[in-house]
Amino acid sequence: MRKCLNCNIKIGGHADSCPLCQNSLTGDATADNWPSPSRLRAQAFLYKLQLFLVLATIAVGISLDYLLGLNNGTHYSLVIALWLIVFEFDLSANIKRLLVISRTVSISTLHICLLLLLTGWYFGFMDIAAYMIIPILLGAALLTNLVFAMTDTTENALVYLLGNIFLVIVIYAVLMAKRIDTGLVWTICLMVSFVSLIGIIIFKGRKVSNEIRKRMNF
Ligand SMILES: [Zn+2]
Repeated sequence: MRKCLNCNIKIGGHADSCPLCQNSLTGDATADNWPSPSRLRAQAFLYKLQLFLVLATIAVGISLDYLLGLNNGTHYSLVIALWLIVFEFDLSANIKRLLVISRTVSISTLHICLLLLLTGWYFGFMDIAAYMIIPILLGAALLTNLVFAMTDTTENALVYLLGNIFLVIVIYAVLMAKRIDTGLVWTICLMVSFVSLIGIIIFKGRKVSNEIRKRMNF
């Protein structure tokens, strides 16, 4: 850390002169305490660039689709616009809030599942979306959250893991109640949920009950 011998203070980062007396500093420079303005400017530029590309894609797609009639009966441009708008909302939510990986994984997975259902319904592959892709995505998110719940010390992942397990069990129960054939992939997803639940209770038992009590307020 750099030092000002005149003021007898230590200064982080790699400033050349003392911010108080302008004396030159001695000692080794350390890493900066905050990102440099040029890096923040670069990030702001990248954000604007992707926003521009996304909005341009939506505008061009809708123009080709509706104004020039370049479609084969399905308005693909609306589907593309929907995916991109949800992506923009998720991105800006992640920029504004502190990044929590398990929250990002859970919320993005939920949004992608809903978009897949809508897209599948519109283009006629709803069965593949509902009985193949969505259980695979939920299972993958569940395993990701399991890894974070087992390894992270801040315990943010635990509530998302429990939510994920709960969601799979509820969906499976609804399918069963409606006497819909759940198919192999959902059954595997349910097994993964149960095994994760057993694992998390055995290895993080006290924390699981604390977390549930905290969220339920009792
Ligand atoms: Zn000084």
